[in-house]
Amino acid sequence: MPGFELFGAEEKKEVNDVLETGIYMRYGFDGPRKGIWKAKELEQAISSKLNVPYTQLTSSGTTALTTALAALGVGAGDEVIMPTFTFVASFESIFSVGATPVLVDVDDTLTLDPRAVEAAITPRTKVIMPVHMCGAMADLDALKAICDKHSLILLEDACQSFGATYKGQAIGTIGHAGAFSFDFVKTITCAEGGAVVTHDKDLYIKCDGYSDHGHDHLGVDRGADQHPFMGYNFRISELHAAVGLAQIRKLDKFLAIQRTTKKIFKDALATIPAISFRRLPDAEGDSATFLGFFLPEEGQARAAAAAMKAAGLAAFYWYDNNWHYIRNWDHFKQSTSLNRFAPGLAQALEVYKIKQFPVSDAIMSRCISTPISLAWSEQEAKERADKMVQAIKSVL
Ligand SMILES: *Cc1c(COP(=O)(O)O)cnc(C)c1O
Repeated sequence: MPGFELFGAEEKKEVNDVLETGIYMRYGFDGPRKGIWKAKELEQAISSKLNVPYTQLTSSGTTALTTALAALGVGAGDEVIMPTFTFVASFESIFSVGATPVLVDVDDTLTLDPRAVEAAITPRTKVIMPVHMCGAMADLDALKAICDKHSLILLEDACQSFGATYKGQAIGTIGHAGAFSFDFVKTITCAEGGAVVTHDKDLYIKCDGYSDHGHDHLGVDRGADQHPFMGYNFRISELHAAVGLAQIRKLDKFLAIQRTTKKIFKDALATIPAISFRRLPDAEGDSATFLGFFLPEEGQARAAAAAMKAAGLAAFYWYDNNWHYIRNWDHFKQSTSLNRFAPGLAQALEVYKIKQFPVSDAIMSRCISTPISLAWSEQEAKERADKMVQAIKSVL
């Protein structure tokens, strides 16, 4: 699953290049940096890997989403449709531009249910933000069709799915923009970092400026840059970009390991008739960071997850998780913030104090995800698969 599991000499070499020059800033200092431009190099590597013309690195996946939303012109009064199962960063980024998150059910893909999305559209809807959870994709054809029909923006939160594809195209490059995270537990890591990718040059230029105080980066030096609009400091550092550069070169290897291990797990669990698997809109494009499956009932899923953990296996039972599923987001439901929301936003959020999500609950309460480690050999994966089958059978 996370790139930090295969970390070593390559990362040290890249970081050392930067330590040698002492220039940790991604812009400027053209002389002293002696030709070392790790952030630029990583942006080019991402663009070429994903076959997308423009990549803007940021300090995190959260700031990548925030930057993309701002560059797309999303702000106060705009509604952004997002799923009930994601990571809290999805709504944080929406709040940070002053927009309103509208939470919508997931289906057995563990991502946005297109029918629920369509039902949630109002005259204020501006963006549909699918989250490609646990390494695999939302139903992008269906969501794109909805966006086209209603003239909405498609912004992909692909933070968990770097390297996944949908019908041959890289996840994150299908909508108007896509966001990735390279935090410590993601498929490839910069320790902390993120990226916005897009086919739209104008959008890219806005992301480039917004993530660096509005600098247009056209001056002979930083002091001579113009500021056509306001921005923030969401820059990545050269040290972080250097780590990512070593990691992206290993992506294909990571994906190959994950796919092999996932198949071993899936084939083993397929021998248990009570188990069904997460539906993947394009199974071939799965980056295979997790295997997601369902048991017939909540009690069985909870017991199976506990039995797996007792057997020394990793099992995520998202239904009880505090930061991935709405059920335990009390701070969100109560709008607990350190500062006041705009009046309209506070009103729009009132609904979450009482709103229930029985459709999402029925899916998430039966779901277990087991992470795929890069550190396991095939033999180890097989032993784990056997243990998993035994643990689950013991509770059925
Ligand atoms: C990790 C993650 C983010 C945010 O990324 P950070 O780099 O940790 O800020 C956003 N969305 C999802 C779905 C994530 O998993």
